[in-house]
Amino acid sequence: MRARLALLVLILGVGFAFYWRSTEKQNPGHAGPGQEDASPESTIDSEEPFRDSPEMRVSLTNSSRNSFRFACSQPFEIYLEEASSPQQRMEPFPDEVTVEATTNPLGIQIGAETFPGKLIRLKTSASPDFWVNDHQYRGEIWFHRLDSGRLLAVNHVPLEEYLGSVVDSEMPATFPDNARKAQAIIARTYALYRRQETADEPYFDLYASTLSQQYLGFQYRTNGGRRLAGESKISRRLARETAGQVCLYEGKLFSTYYSAVCGGKTTEGSILFPDAVPLLQPVPCEYCAAAELYKWERRWSIRQASDYLSREFSRRGIRFGELTKCENVSPEPGPAARFRFEDGRISQTLTGQQIRNLFPDLPSPTFKLELTDEQLHFLGAGHGHGVGLCQWGARGMAIEEKTVEDILNHYYPGVTITPRQD
Ligand SMILES: [Zn+2]
Repeated sequence: MRARLALLVLILGVGFAFYWRSTEKQNPGHAGPGQEDASPESTIDSEEPFRDSPEMRVSLTNSSRNSFRFACSQPFEIYLEEASSPQQRMEPFPDEVTVEATTNPLGIQIGAETFPGKLIRLKTSASPDFWVNDHQYRGEIWFHRLDSGRLLAVNHVPLEEYLGSVVDSEMPATFPDNARKAQAIIARTYALYRRQETADEPYFDLYASTLSQQYLGFQYRTNGGRRLAGESKISRRLARETAGQVCLYEGKLFSTYYSAVCGGKTTEGSILFPDAVPLLQPVPCEYCAAAELYKWERRWSIRQASDYLSREFSRRGIRFGELTKCENVSPEPGPAARFRFEDGRISQTLTGQQIRNLFPDLPSPTFKLELTDEQLHFLGAGHGHGVGLCQWGARGMAIEEKTVEDILNHYYPGVTITPRQD
């Protein structure tokens, strides 16, 4: 079941579903978070709790794990499976403990305590307090023991609390408010769309990564041990000011794809995503011209390029030698653009998307190719898949004082922006 969900999310995921490769874990093709030091007190204030906010279930890792690291500074309660009253009140774990599955009895161990069954739910009145691995989260943490003996850690968190972090995780704090409000609305739409699609799934609706959309939580630690904020007073205000607003197409939630930089024109959604609604049509966008990856170049030696190409062609049962000719077959670059490669003997065709999956470190599937005496030269545009809202373009539009509605209507032409109706 979980594998099916993972596949579904891979197919539907907003960020770069079809492009997910290990090289993109650090470089997901989204505009990314602002790098501000954490100041946890700054977001625990006298805000009213979010009302009428459905609960999201967010898997904190991209796959199940043998164990998780856990810590918290306040006492908390553990509930077993579906129980409505707590099993045990726990003392804090200010130092990290390990959470893992046990076999005798079949259960889950946290620190020195073992609990029987397939699920423990951790609740605290001191939220945000729970640390899982290197992130601290608001809401509850559920540890599921799978039949494989591995564990899933799932954060159960109200939608609007979740969005308070997604806005900062997905878009730099330096981007103008209207761009970040548009981000909040499409992130909310995507989350609710996923929740609707995963209603029958047992464990979770979304990943905390760009497999769905980036969610860093309340704060997190970098590899170097630095603590950074995963949300801010401002990102929470932006979520609050847009609370409940979603995008609809023909009266329905849809997968509001977005990427960091379109490079001049967005990409037709149906080329890449089976569930893309018709309004995900290419639109011109010069608003992202200030982005570093608006235009880019990459060069590979003919030997290295021939090596990558021959790996792909050998999967087709074809031996490919040294590249001697390269032709841009399609007039327009993009994931569906076709390129013909020759080694002096045979000729083979690949699309922009296939080439992006083949060569490491290509920021987007939108490029033209030139073959010189020594190199294969990529002349590219944009960062990410290019479908839907362009995050740097939203920034450019907001700087030109366009409204949130202007931004959403530009990238999702004909969209309806409306209060959520469950
Ligand atoms: Zn753009």
